[in-house]
Amino acid sequence: MNIPFSPPYIDESVEAEVLDALRSGWITTGPKVKALEQEVCNYTGASACLAVNSATSALMLVLHWYGIKQGDEVIIPAYTYAATALAVLHVGATPIMVDVEDDFNISLEKIKVAITTKTKAIIPVDIAGWPCNYQAIHTLINTKEIQEKFSANSEQQKNLNRILILSDAAHSFGAVYQHKKLGTAADITVFSFHAVKNLTTAEGGCICLSLPAPFNNQDVYTTLRLWSLNGQTKDAFSKSKAGGWRYDIVYPGFKINLPDILAAIGLAQIRKYDAVLLKERERVFNYYSQAFQQVSWAIVPPYQQEGSVSSYHLYPLRIHHISEEQRDIIIDKITLSGVAVNVHFQPLPLLKVFKELGYDIKNYPKAYNNYQSEISLPIYPQLNNIQCKYIVDSVINAVNEVISNG
Ligand SMILES: *Cc1c(COP(=O)(O)O)cnc(C)c1O
Repeated sequence: MNIPFSPPYIDESVEAEVLDALRSGWITTGPKVKALEQEVCNYTGASACLAVNSATSALMLVLHWYGIKQGDEVIIPAYTYAATALAVLHVGATPIMVDVEDDFNISLEKIKVAITTKTKAIIPVDIAGWPCNYQAIHTLINTKEIQEKFSANSEQQKNLNRILILSDAAHSFGAVYQHKKLGTAADITVFSFHAVKNLTTAEGGCICLSLPAPFNNQDVYTTLRLWSLNGQTKDAFSKSKAGGWRYDIVYPGFKINLPDILAAIGLAQIRKYDAVLLKERERVFNYYSQAFQQVSWAIVPPYQQEGSVSSYHLYPLRIHHISEEQRDIIIDKITLSGVAVNVHFQPLPLLKVFKELGYDIKNYPKAYNNYQSEISLPIYPQLNNIQCKYIVDSVINAVNEVISNG
């Protein structure tokens, strides 16, 4: 049996929506993007949502909007995809990496000691779709001691007058936090619509705004939208109307808008997200957990606790008491059985760019521990129970062979 890791969910409704965009005479940013933004607002409860061409550029745009630049610090987990850190580097600021907890997510204790007078933002990442403890992060940064460390150096920083909480929710579209769909737990929440993510537009992402007063989220949306389209006062869609030719460039913006042809994919998917995509992911997740709960060496991932529910983006299985080398041999054996698996993630200090910047894995023992024993199993709506059983059997056989030889 051959089982790919993460094929996109493309059905007739996706094809019909894309075809509709193709035949409409308008393929770049226009009505499909607007419709997707509205659907994301309805789904998450966010006040406003801006779609862009990736989560990476979404994070960059937000950091830039908050006036973060060279000399500033942004706290991120060491255990995440590189984009979280790269977005910080792209605005010229310094990523301050901190260690994580057993549930893979950023450690509150480590955030606390990492905050300095230069800290402008924290980017918690909902690893595998499991929500971070946003309430605790809010409480922490609103304490008098931490608040007094903050120095506001831009208009937006003066308005908020504290550290910005920017959620990297690339994995957690559809997750639940405090009994509500994720998207309003942080000041700003960024989702990714990359091809392997739960909800996809092939490439894409969005920015959900949930900023407190005195911010007007609609105004912030208008600003960010302008900045995502070269700072041009009229988008191509408005300019295409008769008499709409004159425009101005009022800000040196970026060119990171999402085309309609891509938004169409996400639009079809979001309409059946809870009923099909999320439900079927949950089925696969539960299938694995029921199977692995009966195996003594397995550590199953978190998925539900006190008002939080995962979006089941990844199935990060961990194996007790194995080395990185043993984990790699297990992966080779699973691969030979035809099942594609992955590792999420190599902690950033293991990667060349970050090593050369001076980050050292020795300072992130939990991140390393989570990584060395982790194998991500395929999880997506199209997997049937026969395939799930085959995957479970392949994993159990591979682990048993390696453990009994060690
Ligand atoms: C995928 C991912 C991103 C980047 O998303 P893009 O849309 O590809 O830019 C950022 N953070 C995490 C944790 C991711 O997994």
